[in-house]
Amino acid sequence: MASNFGFSISKPRVIDIDRNNLRKSNEILREMPELQSCIGCGSCTASCTAGNLTSYNFRKVHTLVRRGEYVGAYEEMNKCMLCGKCRLVCPRGINTRKVAMLIKRKLGDF
Ligand code: SF4
Ligand code: SF4
Repeated sequence: MASNFGFSISKPRVIDIDRNNLRKSNEILREMPELQSCIGCGSCTASCTAGNLTSYNFRKVHTLVRRGEYVGAYEEMNKCMLCGKCRLVCPRGINTRKVAMLIKRKLGDF
């Protein structure tokens, strides 16, 4: 009989990308291949106007979308005000404002 210690082992939080539907993600990367040069530095998030006012995290959203993790992403993206500040600080020169618009458009027509 198993003993009850009052705790259990957490479920693994591994992301199995092979099981994700990458159709939307591939469409986004086809239109904006430069997004693949993102180094995940987080400058876009640190400078984000919406992120200063809400829990919105632009780097997190576009990284999840690229992995094919779309749940809740459209709702999160709607917090973006399209101000363009993130674009000014991206060290890779990615037009992040355009990325935000593209993700909204692609995920909006699910
Ligand atoms: S600032 Fe540019 S390189 Fe850095 S996480 Fe954002 S998109 Fe990626
Ligand atoms: S365009 Fe959107 S994601 Fe970029 S800084 Fe402005 S509110 Fe944030």
